[in-house]
Amino acid sequence: MSPDTEKQHNEIDALLGDLITFYTQEQLSAGDIFHPVRVPVETRPPAAAEETDPVELNAKKAARPDEVWRDAKTIQSFHEQICSCQKCPLGRTRTKFVFGTGNPQAKVMVIGEAPGADEDAQGEPFVGRAGQLLNKILEAIHFKREEVFICNILKCRPPNNRDPLPEEVDQCEPYLRKQIALINPAAILCVGRIAGQTLLKTTRTLGELRGNVHSYENIPMMITYHPAALLRNPNWKRPTWEDVQQFRALYDKLTGTQ
Ligand code: SF4
Repeated sequence: MSPDTEKQHNEIDALLGDLITFYTQEQLSAGDIFHPVRVPVETRPPAAAEETDPVELNAKKAARPDEVWRDAKTIQSFHEQICSCQKCPLGRTRTKFVFGTGNPQAKVMVIGEAPGADEDAQGEPFVGRAGQLLNKILEAIHFKREEVFICNILKCRPPNNRDPLPEEVDQCEPYLRKQIALINPAAILCVGRIAGQTLLKTTRTLGELRGNVHSYENIPMMITYHPAALLRNPNWKRPTWEDVQQFRALYDKLTGTQ
């Protein structure tokens, strides 16, 4: 292991150690104020059956060839319908389309900005070191990666990890809205300044956005630092911990567990 890699691993270990120590201290001093009881995922009625009439499907496709996905009834069929998207130039430069991963009936969605190099290579959001850190942050507030749904605003990687362009967001954000409509989460955790600013159509800083409950597609949403930013700046780990505790408390309140 190179010295740089070892240093990065040590930083992650230190962050998690701090998170666990802080959380334990809070529990000891203030009791179970964050209600860390796992809430069973609500059993929902099965989604309506897909439209299977081939005549009707073909008619719709002929009339709106790029918009048939709007009628998707399940996350799986929606994924299949948009995974070859070429609506913006990122479709030509991506390695893999990154739809999202997790529970199609999740009560929590985690939304970032766009795939990075690891995500582009693997076709899954939040993998690599930042993904591992996100998993551990979620675990610290008693969510497992597989019980939430994780995705990005853009489904394809911008070259050199540049910020998404407004026209790319315009093309891709309807997919995110459809994902939210199909999943219908109780709350959204948005990670990163760019994601927060993009979804809320604002130029307010992350410092101004975090700590408040916003609304996206009529779903309560909170914003915190991106795990990749935490890896770069350990000073943000404490505010991140405060944010995710607030998010857990919000989730508990919304789902009636307090
Ligand atoms: S970024 Fe979104 S709109 Fe652009 S090609 Fe990829 S899926 Fe399509």
